[in-house]
Amino acid sequence: MPVANAEIYLPALLHNIQHFRKKASKSRIMAIVKGNAYGHGLMETSRYLENYVDGFGVARTGEALYLRTIGIERPIVLLEGFFPEDNLEVIAKYNLQVAIHSPWQVRRLCRFVSSHPILIWFKIDTGMHRLGFSPKEGLDYLLQLVECGSAAKPVTIFSHFSSADELENSYTTEQHQIFLDFMLLAKKRGIAIGAASIAASSAILEWPDSRHTWMRPGISLYGISPFAATTADKATGAQLGLRPAMTLKSEIISIRSHFKGEAVGYNQRWRSARDTLLGVVAIGYGDGYPRNMPGGVPVLIKGIRYPIVGQISMDTLVVDLGSETTVNIGDEVILWGPVLPVEEIAALSGFSAYELVTSLTNRIQLCYKTDCIS
Ligand SMILES: *Cc1c(COP(=O)(O)O)cnc(C)c1O
Repeated sequence: MPVANAEIYLPALLHNIQHFRKKASKSRIMAIVKGNAYGHGLMETSRYLENYVDGFGVARTGEALYLRTIGIERPIVLLEGFFPEDNLEVIAKYNLQVAIHSPWQVRRLCRFVSSHPILIWFKIDTGMHRLGFSPKEGLDYLLQLVECGSAAKPVTIFSHFSSADELENSYTTEQHQIFLDFMLLAKKRGIAIGAASIAASSAILEWPDSRHTWMRPGISLYGISPFAATTADKATGAQLGLRPAMTLKSEIISIRSHFKGEAVGYNQRWRSARDTLLGVVAIGYGDGYPRNMPGGVPVLIKGIRYPIVGQISMDTLVVDLGSETTVNIGDEVILWGPVLPVEEIAALSGFSAYELVTSLTNRIQLCYKTDCIS
């Protein structure tokens, strides 16, 4: 095993998919694999998922083309659509489906002449106010789109919730109503709508009315809770019936005696209040473990939690092992995983679990069963 690695237990993904299917057996599942499959490795993860999901969602054209290159044949949706520099010939050739969120995209698409019409995910801004057409102007653009030969019919309508992770927030219900109203209006104007989609992880799990044709699980697919730590009974994937797939690991490469009053690491961020033993772990911000991780955040060694002390370095971090220890050189150190939930590390540190898993760098080797790749 390489010194710093993330073990990915792929069957956890299947467990999570089955969990979503139980909740909404009629809805299709689009696995969201942007950001290197939330740090879990785009190639291996997608190849595994292809057997179990109905499609894939990515943020960048390069991610989608990579999926086609490795042989993924299921539908792939560009969630931000094509980009100004993209070549629509390529999008059509590789049979990518595209979000349309802006007038310039409608104009580009309608100028494009192709024998392979492109499947459209028409994005309505129901309250996120980031990407998408306002319901008011959306209808005109949708009418223009359905007239374009380059747009395949029927069109899918989609949107995104801004606050579905806040279970008490009625904004989600308002957004959902705006979404429903828009579809009704479009139908009244004679526009055929193929499918509807608004639910990402939080909504799939806790806003049952919103699941519609396509569910778009990202973080929860990997077994991680989308809900804030303040939602005490839903703060971890396990509490929601999900299985986390990733275990981030390294090992102890040095154990040293450390005397009361001595500092450790850059800028003497921490001083020991007693004589103790310090363990040096071979992982740092060069691997994506954040430099600003506060002291006291735990790691797990042989089932016991030890606090991180001092500032995280590029290649190492230090833990306080106490004055006597059974820890040895070469012992495995778990930074997060099923027994030390990444959501807990997130809550203690002020990072989000999304950020922690997605920030792993390519120095972390990803290990699937027996094989590790970088
Ligand atoms: C990232 C993303 C998702 C997945 O969100 P999670 O909260 O990780 O489930 C779904 N839809 C869109 C449009 C996204 O960009």
